Amino acid sequence: MTNIVVIGAGYSGLIAAHRLAKRTTAHVTLVNAAADFVERIRLHQHAAGENLRVRPLADSVRGTGIELVIGRVRAIDAAGKKIDVDGRTIGYDTLVYALGSAADDRGIPGVAENAHTVAGHADATALREVLPASGIVTVVGGGLTAIEAATELAEQHPNLHVRMVAGHAPGNRLSAKARQHLGRVFGRLGIEVRAGARVAKVLPDALVLTDGEELPTDITVWTTGFRVPELARQAGVQTDHNGRIVVDGTQRSFSHPDIYAIGDSAVVRVDGQELRMACATAEPMAEYTAKAIAARLAGTEPEPFGYRYFIQCISLGRKDGLVQRVDAFDRPKEKVITGRFGALIKEGIVRGAGWAALR
Ligand SMILES: Cc1cc2nc3c(=O)[nH]c(=O)nc-3n(C[C@H](O)[C@H](O)[C@H](O)COP(=O)(O)OP(=O)(O)OC[C@H]3O[C@@H](n4cnc5c(N)ncnc54)[C@H](O)[C@@H]3O)c2cc1C
Repeated sequence: MTNIVVIGAGYSGLIAAHRLAKRTTAHVTLVNAAADFVERIRLHQHAAGENLRVRPLADSVRGTGIELVIGRVRAIDAAGKKIDVDGRTIGYDTLVYALGSAADDRGIPGVAENAHTVAGHADATALREVLPASGIVTVVGGGLTAIEAATELAEQHPNLHVRMVAGHAPGNRLSAKARQHLGRVFGRLGIEVRAGARVAKVLPDALVLTDGEELPTDITVWTTGFRVPELARQAGVQTDHNGRIVVDGTQRSFSHPDIYAIGDSAVVRVDGQELRMACATAEPMAEYTAKAIAARLAGTEPEPFGYRYFIQCISLGRKDGLVQRVDAFDRPKEKVITGRFGALIKEGIVRGAGWAALR
């Protein structure tokens, strides 16, 4: 019997395992470091104090035939086609690499020691545990995760002064209408924005900017992007400069065709454009990859993965949201939906993403 091992049970890995168990007669093993599925796209809510539903992976795979292994993948032997999970060896015919990503400190001194992140469950829990009753929380970054974290913290903790520090204006890739709305929401929530500032160092109680200015802060939240695990690079699998596995049009590693990569850990280009690290791309990649593997097992060659963008969805606390129409290449169009309706759409999408993965 063919052995397919999926490593990582986040949005992409869990979907891939479920679809592979349904579409093939292979033995599917799913390996994940934690016993529960983490709704990563809600981690800013968790950090701000909301209690997320606990979703055991064992419940999700019950009755599917998937063998669930809870443990951390320590190494991949790509030549021997086996992985080490906390000392236990698991062999594979096909490996689906779906290990996701973590916060990227970008090599800035003091981030690891003095800043918090919302990129993983343990990180977000650590942040919520140290949030003071009052004081300054500085969110470093101006992308979508930074905006979601800053608005959530400001809404849930009105006694905190939330400040964003970013090299560019927050949401600079959004349309003018969207940026205007962001400005209004930041004003309502009292969020201070320091755009055009670059952080050189993070101290326990201050940020040092590249021009030498020191900004006092009680808590720093670092949200300047994601980096991926080193396991693929260490195994000699071809990766890009960020450690993401370079795949062909069918999500298969160029260097090791028995390894497929999906989600944040894969660098994927469609029509020459690199897809962004997002749940919005991770889930379709996983659906596609299960079909591609099933097709190959059945002796047919799959069509390449196709993808186009339609919207970007951003939560702005629990009562407001922003849905930005984008073109196929992720460039903003003028149309935006904002306010409570925007928040409702975003909530629907977040629920749908979890539902698709768990079932
Ligand atoms: C606060 C926040 C908000 C976000 N909001 C959005 C949004 O609104 N829309 C959107 O499209 N994207 C959003 N994202 C990005 C999105 O969460 C990721 O792109 C998505 O989770 C990627 O899916 P994945 O399957 O690649 O990885 P993940 O969902 O991160 O799953 C990876 C899994 O691998 C496991 N793992 C890692 N290393 C090991 C190991 N060595 N051994 C065993 N298991 C391991 C992890 O425990 C995890 O279960 C957000 C991210 C954050 C942090």
